[in-house]
Amino acid sequence: MIRTRFAPSPTGFLHVGGVRTALFAWLLARQNDGQFILRIEDTDKVREVVGAEAHIQASLKWVGIEWNEGTDIGGPHAPYRQSERLDLYHAWAQKLVDSGRAYADPYTPEQVEGFREEAKRAKRPFLYRDHRPDNPPTWDGSQPLRLKSEPKAYQWHDAVMGDLSTGPEAIDDFVLMKSDGYPTYNFCHIVDDAVMEITHVIRSQEFISSVPKYLNLYEALGVAPPTMATLPYVMAIDGKKKLGKRDGARDILDYAREGFLPEAMLNFLATLGWNDGTEQEIFTKNELIEKFSLDRVQRSGARFDEQRLQWMNGYWIRRLDLDDLYQRATDFWPPTVAEYDEDYKKKVLGLIQERLKFLAEVPALTEFFFSTPAIDPELITTHKQLKKCSTEDLRQWLQTTSTSLEGSDFSNDDLTTRLNDLLETTGQKPAVLFSLIRIAITQAPSSPGLADTLAVLGKERSLERIRTQLAAL
Ligand code: GLU
Repeated sequence: MIRTRFAPSPTGFLHVGGVRTALFAWLLARQNDGQFILRIEDTDKVREVVGAEAHIQASLKWVGIEWNEGTDIGGPHAPYRQSERLDLYHAWAQKLVDSGRAYADPYTPEQVEGFREEAKRAKRPFLYRDHRPDNPPTWDGSQPLRLKSEPKAYQWHDAVMGDLSTGPEAIDDFVLMKSDGYPTYNFCHIVDDAVMEITHVIRSQEFISSVPKYLNLYEALGVAPPTMATLPYVMAIDGKKKLGKRDGARDILDYAREGFLPEAMLNFLATLGWNDGTEQEIFTKNELIEKFSLDRVQRSGARFDEQRLQWMNGYWIRRLDLDDLYQRATDFWPPTVAEYDEDYKKKVLGLIQERLKFLAEVPALTEFFFSTPAIDPELITTHKQLKKCSTEDLRQWLQTTSTSLEGSDFSNDDLTTRLNDLLETTGQKPAVLFSLIRIAITQAPSSPGLADTLAVLGKERSLERIRTQLAAL
């Protein structure tokens, strides 16, 4: 039974990097009919942010990641919040004390600082184990507790990074329990992964240098280590530094608020540093569950490219049927749209579906369908072709257009025929005549196809706008 976990600290929102880690762990569990556990690592009370846990859960749910065990649904290893498991860590720490593999740290922070300075002067790396006390005090929970390490070289296989090795210098007596009674991450995640029977630890690169220490601790505990899979960082767009909250990495739920589709986000995150060995870029959730494999995760950092996310989102939007698009767009319409019927709104959406990149674009792209646009003279005076035409010509062409459209039934076919005829009658190119008509009815520099736009707007509104433009010329 494969059991994976995502173990965020509730210190703020999740950005793409965090959700990708969760996704890879979840995919591995799902494809093996295994289980995925959501554990909250809240032993650093200083960095904790109120509401972060709920926010993390909402973020995962939005992209479609569900967990089998967690703080909200419980499970056989509850509680899943580390701050509620302190007795367990204490008991495991005591076992290490009893077996002679952990000791109370007798030094003050100033003394430790002194050792550090001394090592620096002697130009050798500072290792706490060089100062291991001969007769440590009895551990009463008020002193930090350290692992009595066994320095040695390690070789291990990381499911993503391959074969890795380190020398004994990577091993030191690290803190297991702090003087405030809380365990360190380095200690309690090992206890939890063991107790919760985690088979694959999938996490970000920042922990890779600590793995030899963990291996040393696993030995001290007499516990077999799980498979480790280290994911390279998600890099900022420049590819030079890791994407971080400080460089503008955004809350994943911001994308939900902007109308990115969960299908697109899932697809995007999965292909951020993973591929199936082909050129395929678009994957459904089920395809990902079927095809994902840790050994095809890239070892170097993947660049976070928001343009690519937009492109992918556009793709997933085009794939929606109109009813679905309409449902999903509900929250994005401005209030003024409420008075229009569903059928009209669907037609409008149908016209822009092809070029929508995210749903928050809906209001700007569709505004002129729902309110009469104010005349913007600059659209003509700055237009490449139209600025060269005389007002008299412009008036005449619009007048001719108006007269022709008055006889139209405003079906798509009829409008298309009439528009083409108008090119002949006026002797103008589409770039001139159609631009002029487009400006008159939309007051926008671009719009969906002209016949389509006229058909959806309808006869009354379209003619009214042409008349208004005529009057303004
Ligand atoms: N609490 C750690 C973090 O948020 C978890 C790392 C791990 O997955 O072991 O980064």
